[in-house]
Amino acid sequence: MQYRQIFENAIGKLKTEQRYRVFADIERDSERFPHAIWRDHSGAAHDITIWCSNDYLGMGVNPEVIAAMKSATAKHGAGAGGTRNISGTSHPLVMLEAELADLHGKEAALVFTSGWISNLAAISTIADLLPNCLILSDALNHNSMIEGVRRSSAERKIWRHNDVAHLEELLAAQPLERAKLIVFESLYSMDGDISPIKEICDLAEKYNAMTYIDEVHAVAMYGARGGGVAEREGQMHRIDVIEGTLAKGFGVIGGYIAASPAICDAVRSFAPSFIFSTALPPAVCAAAAQSVRIAKTRPELRMAHQRQSWLTKHALMRAGLPVLPNPSHIVPVMVGDAQLCKAASDMLLERHGIYIQPINYPTVARGTERLRITPTPHHGDAHIAHLVEALVDVWTTLRIPFAEVSDVESPFANDAHCTYPAMKRAAE
Ligand SMILES: *Cc1c(COP(=O)(O)O)cnc(C)c1O
Repeated sequence: MQYRQIFENAIGKLKTEQRYRVFADIERDSERFPHAIWRDHSGAAHDITIWCSNDYLGMGVNPEVIAAMKSATAKHGAGAGGTRNISGTSHPLVMLEAELADLHGKEAALVFTSGWISNLAAISTIADLLPNCLILSDALNHNSMIEGVRRSSAERKIWRHNDVAHLEELLAAQPLERAKLIVFESLYSMDGDISPIKEICDLAEKYNAMTYIDEVHAVAMYGARGGGVAEREGQMHRIDVIEGTLAKGFGVIGGYIAASPAICDAVRSFAPSFIFSTALPPAVCAAAAQSVRIAKTRPELRMAHQRQSWLTKHALMRAGLPVLPNPSHIVPVMVGDAQLCKAASDMLLERHGIYIQPINYPTVARGTERLRITPTPHHGDAHIAHLVEALVDVWTTLRIPFAEVSDVESPFANDAHCTYPAMKRAAE
């Protein structure tokens, strides 16, 4: 057996297909975010600007979140000490689950070690407990949801992305009394499009189905208190299970579901990936809870985030860069070729000190390779101007096709200087 050869061949195949991924060596700086240090192959350090973080609001560097983590570490130590079955639930975790249930207007919440695990555990356990359940899953659902669907023994049907007519067709073909679970996301993070939540809830009611939504890319960022798109659209109470992460908008780590006490209790009692895995450390829970509290009470953070996202989007469009239009904070700039996408990302980093990881297959379909830009409230107007200049240079040098220049005005064009530091001052 040529063990080594087998692994090398597998990697070689990825490289031939332009799918081999290289991780940048990044050192985040809590006092200078979005600036950071990047170390190249020789180990030399360069000052860069991060433009592709899912720490969408910069909560990971928020002084109150850091303080909560520090003081809880000093008080409770570094680890949780065991699974919740073996070692009990730390008090900060009890408090975190209460914050999350309240955030979504539910009676209960259950925290997992990651959003990925929460989808795997909750979808598979819920579907397996429902007798003869049919899962109806959106075609573009995240890998963690697909893994949850696959892990269950329930029958599954895939509905065309965001196509409620197709979903209705599939629902109508089933007996009304059959158990059904509709699984979908609120905000799809690669195209930045938003699902028709109300219409899906209407169908669920009409055809007697349960609803499960992944709000991973919307919690902390949408809704009056950061409860997500379902909160913004007044639909939270109509959704049976809301799943979210503590790692993106909330800037820490961990995942959760918010639902009825019966659902949370059932998942707690039957999901192996919950039962047999050590709980999050108390300090992580304290930091996450602080982040949730901040999100609930500071809509100005969400405003600053939306403002910088839209200013970025419109500045790129005015420069003729091919931004994929969408109604959210995600700024996808289309390249359409794996090799060019990687080359553009490398050139941005090496020549301009701008870090944007290339997004290639299988994260997105072949031919739709892109740079996925995620502005935060910490990206000021000067950062945006630098980004536009750098992208235009890279597009020109690599001869990547430009789009038609669109003369769009940002909805924020007139409130010239309310970047994050200014907002912070205004809030004081
Ligand atoms: C990132 C992501 C997850 C997983 O969350 P983690 O907390 O990073 O494990 C789940 N769903 C979607 C849509 C995601 O993008």
